Amino acid sequence: MSTIKLQDLKVILNQEGSKKYTKVSYPIRYGRYTEMEYGEYRFLFNRNGEVKFIVGQGRDWPHPSEWLKRTIGNNWVYYSTGSYYTGVVDLFGEYYLPCPAYPTNSLFKENPFTRHAVIKALEEFDQIGSRLLSLAAKISAPEDEAMKDFLNRAGRNSTDQLRQKADRLQRILKARISVLPTDCRHVDYDVIPLMVNDGCLYNCSFCEVKSGMDLSCRSRQEITEQLQALKEFFGTDLLNYNSVYLGQHDAMGASPDDILFAADQAYTILDIKKSYMQEPRLFLFGSAE
Ligand code: SF4
Repeated sequence: MSTIKLQDLKVILNQEGSKKYTKVSYPIRYGRYTEMEYGEYRFLFNRNGEVKFIVGQGRDWPHPSEWLKRTIGNNWVYYSTGSYYTGVVDLFGEYYLPCPAYPTNSLFKENPFTRHAVIKALEEFDQIGSRLLSLAAKISAPEDEAMKDFLNRAGRNSTDQLRQKADRLQRILKARISVLPTDCRHVDYDVIPLMVNDGCLYNCSFCEVKSGMDLSCRSRQEITEQLQALKEFFGTDLLNYNSVYLGQHDAMGASPDDILFAADQAYTILDIKKSYMQEPRLFLFGSAE
């Protein structure tokens, strides 16, 4: 772990979080990451230098134990302790309620993304890239090479760049992830998506996440190519993942042999065995039948 203070910015490289997903009533970080303190915020970056968490430290921040998390689809989610609501643990069996920025069928009407401090945090991130790049340009000592590399990576990963990367994920999957199995909460939704089929069997009228397509399965070659592209997509941050979500809405509708093939290939190609995180898991939806 190395720390550097550059003017009003403090960066701690290579932090090591928990290796096991767990349920606790206080903020916990998983995997390996870099932390940066700047102004009223702490920014946590994954190993690719992409922002993953923002925590407010000022008086305006809704609650000291709450944070923003960015998903691989580049959506921000606010983790609420229930400071607005009561009974989060009783209702969900979880200490935190992830609140997405877009409208959902949530039981709660309050939207943390309308809070001034949360809006300001996202604006702050939006502006920090050029600052990081100019600081990187001033570093010349060979022993600070890792810090320079981080500042360059983080500086280049602007809001626009992160959006483009999320678009790339959609192109790799040839699908848009509209929903994850609820049990993905047991790994804090840190799953690598792998599409083994499209559509679903029923296309239920009430469903708002369906693609509207009939069920069709991806070929084994397509699954392998998708995994190779995903490996490249996650890059050095692959180490922080140990769980896979087989999509899309009814992976159980694929043939049993193909499901096993996909699981086995994912385990091998994505180097799950070498993950920093322990206890790998596989998630998939199965329709009523
Ligand atoms: S089977 Fe599932 S995904 Fe498909 S329409 Fe019904 S509820 Fe939605």
